[in-house]
Amino acid sequence: MAGSEAAWQLAERGHRVQLVEMRPEKKSEAHKTGDFAELVCSNSLRGADLKNAVGLLKEEMRRLGSLVMRSADRNAVPGGGALVVDREGFSKFITEAIRSHPLIEVVNEEVTELDAAPGSPLLIATGPLTSPALAERIARLTGSEYLYFYDSIAPIVEADSIDRDIAFRASRYDKGEADYLNCPMNREEYEAFVAALLAAEKVPTKDFERPQFFEGCLPVEVMAERGRDTLAFGPMKPVGLIDPRTGKRPHAVVQLRQDDLHATLYNMVGFQTRMKYPEQQRVFRMIPGLERAEFVRLGSMHRNTFINAPRLLSPRLELKSRPGIYFAGQMIGVEGYVESAAMGLYAGLVLAEFLAGRELPAPPPDTALGALVRHISEASGQDFQPMNVNFGLMEIPPPYRRKERRLDLARHALDRLENWARQAGVGGTAAPARLAAEASA
Ligand SMILES: Cc1cc2nc3c(=O)[nH]c(=O)nc-3n(C[C@H](O)[C@H](O)[C@H](O)COP(=O)(O)OP(=O)(O)OC[C@H]3O[C@@H](n4cnc5c(N)ncnc54)[C@H](O)[C@@H]3O)c2cc1C
Repeated sequence: MAGSEAAWQLAERGHRVQLVEMRPEKKSEAHKTGDFAELVCSNSLRGADLKNAVGLLKEEMRRLGSLVMRSADRNAVPGGGALVVDREGFSKFITEAIRSHPLIEVVNEEVTELDAAPGSPLLIATGPLTSPALAERIARLTGSEYLYFYDSIAPIVEADSIDRDIAFRASRYDKGEADYLNCPMNREEYEAFVAALLAAEKVPTKDFERPQFFEGCLPVEVMAERGRDTLAFGPMKPVGLIDPRTGKRPHAVVQLRQDDLHATLYNMVGFQTRMKYPEQQRVFRMIPGLERAEFVRLGSMHRNTFINAPRLLSPRLELKSRPGIYFAGQMIGVEGYVESAAMGLYAGLVLAEFLAGRELPAPPPDTALGALVRHISEASGQDFQPMNVNFGLMEIPPPYRRKERRLDLARHALDRLENWARQAGVGGTAAPARLAAEASA
């Protein structure tokens, strides 16, 4: 996804690109074909509506002349509120565009070394299933402590969907700032919750994903399997917390930690899980204070190669310790087809500007693209985890903060994006004009 989009953006701006892809000779555990932009699982590019952050990101990509979006729109199949594509047609269109571009040379081989010719920037966009030999090479480059092979994602809840009459603000023993919201449970509530966790349907593990969980980062249901009280002595321990409603220490607590600058999102601390998404919503809404919780992200644990981008990369995706080497796609800590392609598009623009002797300014943080760039460059590097695009990452001007104003927010973001692109001189390539011509033909 990211590699195809970056190559296209560069080539359309007049730069020669060598695109190195190991398939079809060597396939990852999930890819099946030799085509570019293969969708390894679902054929949905998620919400189409502009009131939805991923819908906005897709529209921003269209306005920047995205090849992935052009193919998605041409290969759309009915999908309700989502942009769903014919997977074969989608990848074939992109493969043909890349293979027939006069400025793109495709080389089919596995990359195991990272040597670029002097003056030629190197972009690594080998995705969540980067081949082991290359992953090892990247670990040597970045330091192995900054390269991860699994993500372990805890759900994130919208702040205004948390019942503040129940969830109380405190940190253990009143130490430091009261940064946490605590959802208290009595013994009966705790036991019913643990029983629901154990009974819930889990996502089956694929062969190549045989769980190798770290002890410090176990799925919450695996902890529950180890004994009825394991969670109450682990992430749900109530020590140092007094529930102001009862004046007593609860039997257990679920702690929620602020997850974004504006405190619009809260992260469920230690609640990484492999429960199926509908099950997570059902079980987590049993938690007192979260009965009406709206989740912007649900928990997951995947095989996923990614780097600690906030520690390693500049906002222009360049490795701080090795100028000339850039990263894009899911491996920089975004999650999802659209987000990966968006980071490829951005990398293509960054490199095109660099090759023209200029520096691309970061996209504004009140656009979906800018929000993602800010996430990967400014999030805390301490327990960095991949993220889908969502409004909580965006800097939302006060007039647009209410949910009912999402469409106005999207219009504002699109204006800001177009201004930025115009000023930076990276407005859409010929693609949108061609698109219009295609549409009328
Ligand atoms: C099993 C699985 C299922 C997923 N399901 C979904 C989903 O349903 N919806 C969703 O939105 N996201 C999903 N994702 C997440 C993510 O969006 C996709 O993986 C997306 O394709 C990532 O885009 P990318 O460009 O970063 O990497 P990719 O699209 O994987 O592209 C990386 C490319 O690099 C090649 N490559 C790897 N190593 C080398 C090497 N050493 N030399 C040369 N080439 C190499 C690969 O063959 C591949 O073509 C899934 C991820 C996985 C692992």
